[in-house]
Amino acid sequence: MTSSADGDPLANARSALASGDPGEALRLTFTAAKPAVRQQDDEALRSASALASEIADAASGRIAKEARQYSFYWLACIEQPRDQQPNAWSFLPWFKREPRERRQPCPQCAESIVVGAKECRFCRHRLD
Ligand SMILES: [Zn+2]
Repeated sequence: MTSSADGDPLANARSALASGDPGEALRLTFTAAKPAVRQQDDEALRSASALASEIADAASGRIAKEARQYSFYWLACIEQPRDQQPNAWSFLPWFKREPRERRQPCPQCAESIVVGAKECRFCRHRLD
């Protein structure tokens, strides 16, 4: 991994963001961060996370939401021991996951739902 600006895999993502294409910027950031996740390159992960956060501020809707989640994900990759990290394809459910003891089956459809939820997110059954 080179430290020159030319070798910075996030440089293209930064220019996509600068030219007003946050969606492309996020895609490029993701591509750049993939090897960093594998190699646990904390510095690259921190840069990717910071850039994703900038993208989230510049974007709206789905892109902003995804950028924020990736920003969180890449930071988590720094903080979590390697064997406890989610992989890129499974990280969304990983973040949504609640501790087991805080879940209960829905009385209507039996899907596992969070204790204290007002409504089942699967069948919309009301829980009072
Ligand atoms: Zn249900």
